[in-house]
Amino acid sequence: MKRLCPACGYVIDAAAAATAPRPPRAGDIGICLSCAAILILDDDGLPDRLASPTDLDRLRTEALEQAREAVDFIRSRGPLPPKGART
Ligand SMILES: [Zn+2]
Repeated sequence: MKRLCPACGYVIDAAAAATAPRPPRAGDIGICLSCAAILILDDDGLPDRLASPTDLDRLRTEALEQAREAVDFIRSRGPLPPKGART
């Protein structure tokens, strides 16, 4: 199963929970590994939509700090090449 990042169009076909010992589930946040958009995941653990400010307000401070660290890292690294373009 695949879905496109609603911000950059990167093909997302997998997700993993960063802190919970379970698969991602509906309503969890995810972060696009290419553009660092913060996403709300669906039942399949794939991006459903971009996170809203209200979604981010609901996060625990620790989770928000972890998300910001990941976003900062991804932005400093730059976007990933399209899938299939890697050698
Ligand atoms: Zn993206």
